[in-house]
Amino acid sequence: MKEIILCKYGEIVLKGLNRGSFEAALQRNVRRRLKPLGKIGLRSGQSTLYVEPLEDGIDMDEVFERCKKIYGITKLCRSVGVEKNIDAIFGVVCERFDGALRSAKTFKVEVKRSDKSFYLTSPELAAQLGGMVLERFPHLKVDLFEPEVTVVCEIRDEGAFIHDIAVDGAGGIPVGTSGRALLLLSGGIDSPVAGCMMAKRGAEISAIHFEAPPYTSERALMKVERLAKKMAEYCGHIGFYVVPFTKIQEEIKNNCPEDYFTLIMRRLMMEIAQRIAERDGMMALATGESLGQVASQTMTAMVTTDAVCRIPVFRPCIGLDKKEIIDMAYKLGTFEISIEPYEDCCTVFTPRHPKTRPALKDVEKAQAMFDFEPLIEEAVQNTRVKTVKAY
Ligand code: ATP
Ligand code: MG
Repeated sequence: MKEIILCKYGEIVLKGLNRGSFEAALQRNVRRRLKPLGKIGLRSGQSTLYVEPLEDGIDMDEVFERCKKIYGITKLCRSVGVEKNIDAIFGVVCERFDGALRSAKTFKVEVKRSDKSFYLTSPELAAQLGGMVLERFPHLKVDLFEPEVTVVCEIRDEGAFIHDIAVDGAGGIPVGTSGRALLLLSGGIDSPVAGCMMAKRGAEISAIHFEAPPYTSERALMKVERLAKKMAEYCGHIGFYVVPFTKIQEEIKNNCPEDYFTLIMRRLMMEIAQRIAERDGMMALATGESLGQVASQTMTAMVTTDAVCRIPVFRPCIGLDKKEIIDMAYKLGTFEISIEPYEDCCTVFTPRHPKTRPALKDVEKAQAMFDFEPLIEEAVQNTRVKTVKAY
């Protein structure tokens, strides 16, 4: 029996004339992610992407796991396709569900008929198939509400597809349909979640990380790169930028009032990030900030950082509690990496009494005590970039 994975579209089905471009983006993303696993056929039809192995020995468990992480898919089913003939369908049901039906006490058959020309209605087919199953496995009872086994049969244009209950996909819309954003990626819990939330809404993500050796170690950087790699399972390839930030941080420390260290640092990070974004064709920045989480994330503090930004800054975690962000990080698989204890450049020069309600003009005055422009340009010039791939 040959397995076919049915990937059901999410919001793509709501799109109008531009629906084709969303479908194409989804296919492109799926093809890219599955390519290393072997020859796999993809085709679209009836709001579904059919994913089918075209050679022997393909690890379908891995194909399925990868598809579950691709944005634009709401539901997935591991199905077997067969001709639209009740005996053939019953044959597949018996083969596929033999073990499960033998050991269960209750079951139900669920039919979905998108091919309206099929000669039986959904309830008729469900009743007939259910009857055949009961005859073959007389110990079973039908339970429509809490069955131990659910046999699903979809009657589609191109055939009948038999599977059990569909699994949730990653949802969202395909990466590559909403523009490109540059994520400020620290080693913390929040920013990877923010990046994936942007990708879920179709944004193509690049990540920029500020390092401050020797205050931050090579291993701290490796950790951030591993975070990017984990994110790439959801976001696709990630352009990963690393900015040498040590000199700037030292000059902040040597020249500016301590209370404003963090705010000035964040303004300079934004400045460098947006220069790189503008240079490399990204139209927005993104951060993992959440309103009021720490001193530098109060609304007044964000006003002072946004004052230097010429392009939009998206903060998808803005309204989430830490607990909610942690739950999402856990699901994405970034949490375990984020909690590894490495230093971040932000924490190296933390002021003892950070300003929580800074006035913009005071921050500007504090920052103006040193001419950062040459160092900003130097940092941009010395930024390294590489592509991080998931697999
Ligand atoms: P996170 O868990 O994402 O680190 P956080 O709660 O620790 O967030 P901060 O350390 O104040 O918050 O950082 C706020 C945001 O600034 C981060 O979400 C991230 O977008 C960005 N950021 C902080 N440090 C860095 C860094 N070293 N490189 C790149 N971006 C950073
Ligand atoms: Mg942090």
